[in-house]
Amino acid sequence: MVIQPKIRGFICTNAHPVGCKAGVNEQIEYVKQQGIIKNAPKNVLIIGCSTGYGLASRITSAFAGGAKTLGICFEKEPTDRRTGTAGWYNTAAFHQAAKADNLYCKTINGDAFSNEIKQQTINTIQQDMGKIDLIIYSLASPRRVDPETGDVYTSSLKPIGDSNYITKTFDTNKNIVHEIELEPASQSDIDNTVKVMGGEDWELWIKALSNAGVLADNCKTTAYTYIGKELTWPIYGHATIGKAKEDLDRASTALNQNYSELNLKAYVTSLKAVVTQASSAIPVMPLYISLMYQVMKDEGCHEGVIEQIYGLFNRLLFADNPPTDEVNRLRMDTVETNDEIQAKIKAIWPQVTTENFQDLGDYQGYHQDFLKLFGFGIDSVNYDADVDPVVEWV
Ligand code: NAD
Repeated sequence: MVIQPKIRGFICTNAHPVGCKAGVNEQIEYVKQQGIIKNAPKNVLIIGCSTGYGLASRITSAFAGGAKTLGICFEKEPTDRRTGTAGWYNTAAFHQAAKADNLYCKTINGDAFSNEIKQQTINTIQQDMGKIDLIIYSLASPRRVDPETGDVYTSSLKPIGDSNYITKTFDTNKNIVHEIELEPASQSDIDNTVKVMGGEDWELWIKALSNAGVLADNCKTTAYTYIGKELTWPIYGHATIGKAKEDLDRASTALNQNYSELNLKAYVTSLKAVVTQASSAIPVMPLYISLMYQVMKDEGCHEGVIEQIYGLFNRLLFADNPPTDEVNRLRMDTVETNDEIQAKIKAIWPQVTTENFQDLGDYQGYHQDFLKLFGFGIDSVNYDADVDPVVEWV
């Protein structure tokens, strides 16, 4: 099959196995070059392991920490006629590289919110790993089925307030900068988003793992958040998704209290905005990210997913008393959110139009990163070649 990108709106509906493998190997090479991380945990569970920040966490755990990794994801398997999802191919590439380096890895493909997948995970840990010393919680999902009631909750990306919110955005499909008007969230939109992307499921995971006796003493866990600044607050920090992220702060406090006997340390980590499948779907973010990339590249301080996660593991997560902010969060986003960088982005923001966007923003960088998420746009890959879409996890 010859596989060319099929972009629909903010998503690409297919993926390239060879390109995804090249992307994963590039991240592996990066962490190997950075070197071994001191005090890195040896048994790591990554919930949301196949793309974005979760994949980078898995790669860093394995190739800079020598860890056994167990990953959980929700991906589509390829068939003879249809490609798999990018996360499927990324996972296949990760398995291949880990096995080549004699690193244990297993991946469970299914709904992380369900009791069945939690139980399957526990069984695998008991059989293969003993106890877990790091749990990364990196899910980004539009819906969640409550495991007890079966009720389905859908998250939304809406501002909170009394009136419609009007702002600029970049339509990555039509390549235009235009105004959008977003309706404010209702209380049930907020509640549903908290139910999907808040801390409840993170707590359920830790509870299930603890009850099964598979958490090591002194284990650590972190869930990822985005805090941002004034430009993104109306649609992120102070919006429905921001309320869900605030609930992660509540959950981390509860986890630290409830599992103090194990000396468990739970942190929310705030990461930089980057192009991932999750962030591409959020109105305003493609425009914000393009301008921010331009400013941070000009300033020589741009970082992608793997640089952020290697930095988190190397400097903060396993330090004895890592610096935290006022609500005990680890902060990897301080360069993006500093006043100087934000002032530069804010100065450009009102001037951006469809005509000047490619000069003022890093459209190339955004687009390249977007294509790469699905294994496209990589120089070393021949996209005219016939490739087998069916790739197994070894
Ligand atoms: P992503 O879309 O790249 O990854 C999501 C992962 O979750 C994938 O591995 C996917 O398979 C898995 N997943 C989704 N639903 C699942 C389910 N029901 N069961 C099992 N697995 C499931 O997203 P990302 O951008 O890497 O986001 C990960 C976390 O990082 C999120 O909490 C997000 O808010 C946070 N974050 C993202 C950014 C950003 O700019 N992208 C910035 C800061 C924080």
